[in-house]
Amino acid sequence: MIKNVIYPIQAWLLSQGRCVGCGKLLTKAKIKSGKSSQKQVTCDCRRVYILDSKSQKYRRALPEEVF
Ligand SMILES: [Zn+2]
Repeated sequence: MIKNVIYPIQAWLLSQGRCVGCGKLLTKAKIKSGKSSQKQVTCDCRRVYILDSKSQKYRRALPEEVF
């Protein structure tokens, strides 16, 4: 786990369903359907997130997850 000053702020933004870069609501971002349980969400600022449809939580996508 990355530990720095930014991390808690990013975790808080994600817990609110917001982009960590621009603060926009990810519910309004583009969703690309991927695997059934995980959806790829791309923000306007081109950051990519994974929405877990079971928990309805967002997290940053790993580079290898971006397709
Ligand atoms: Zn953004």
